[in-house]
Amino acid sequence: MINIRLLGSGGGMPMPDRFLSSLLVNFQGRKILMDCGEGTQVAMRKFNTGFKSIDIICITHNHGDHIFGLPGLLSTIGNSDRTEPITIIGPKGMKGIMKGLKIIMPHIPYDLNIIEDPRHELAFGISPNGLMLIEDENCTNKDITISTLELDHSCPCIGYSIYVPRQPKFYPEKAIQNQVPMELWKRLQNGETIIHNNHRYEPNMVLGENRRGIKLSYIVDTRPIDTIPEFVYESDLLVCEGTYGDSEDVDKAIKNKHMTFSEAADLANRGNVEELLLTHFSPSMESVGLFKKNAVDIFKNTTLGYDGFSKDLYYE
Ligand SMILES: [Zn+2]
Ligand SMILES: [Zn+2]
Repeated sequence: MINIRLLGSGGGMPMPDRFLSSLLVNFQGRKILMDCGEGTQVAMRKFNTGFKSIDIICITHNHGDHIFGLPGLLSTIGNSDRTEPITIIGPKGMKGIMKGLKIIMPHIPYDLNIIEDPRHELAFGISPNGLMLIEDENCTNKDITISTLELDHSCPCIGYSIYVPRQPKFYPEKAIQNQVPMELWKRLQNGETIIHNNHRYEPNMVLGENRRGIKLSYIVDTRPIDTIPEFVYESDLLVCEGTYGDSEDVDKAIKNKHMTFSEAADLANRGNVEELLLTHFSPSMESVGLFKKNAVDIFKNTTLGYDGFSKDLYYE
């Protein structure tokens, strides 16, 4: 199971009653933060989420409403006595940005692992130090994987997909049938292939079919490009920007490289996702609910995000 909490639902600038778009993902007590605009740590305090166990921070792009909160949050985490490293993933230019930010936070007591513009899937496993990057490609013990997609915004911007794989079921009767010595069961169940007394034993000798995991996608600040539906395909939840509710604002959306509600709903529809959660609302849009119909008419299971929105996602 994973829990998600929308820390804010605004775009552009923080408003008194709408914090900036940011998503906190909770997985087995460890946390992943998606974007960190100005005031994100205030929202975290307001919603009592805690911040010490944040192991990974995914930044979509370097516009202030997605990154200005980073030095403040990292300093606060430093004051909470954290010593375990934090992984920061971001678009092209992320290393340079972090180098600059180091000037104003020279004494943080933990290491930062910066991953700039990753072009392949990243795997993480839970360790005593929290969620750590798994460098070994053959490792089967992945707790979560993170993939990225290049988006179409006014600066380099990437979308994210988090996948929590589900272990196949263990069948003792299958192990007995395949004459697997009992002392190997646990290791095979964990995905290891073992040579034992000159015999080769593989995980599928004790395990059932592959089972579907949980997929969460986060797409903000982009035009609705054709690569998005495939990238978010069959997500349990697609968190997506809907900067403008009114479909008549599509010219503004094109000019500012954002989306309307109906464009986001169309992506959800084509991506065959389970649920769409809209966020990143323009400060000019006071009453978001007025425009819900524009999304629901195209994709029925649309939820309008609001600050503090929380949801649990389960295996099927
Ligand atoms: Zn933005
Ligand atoms: Zn932006």
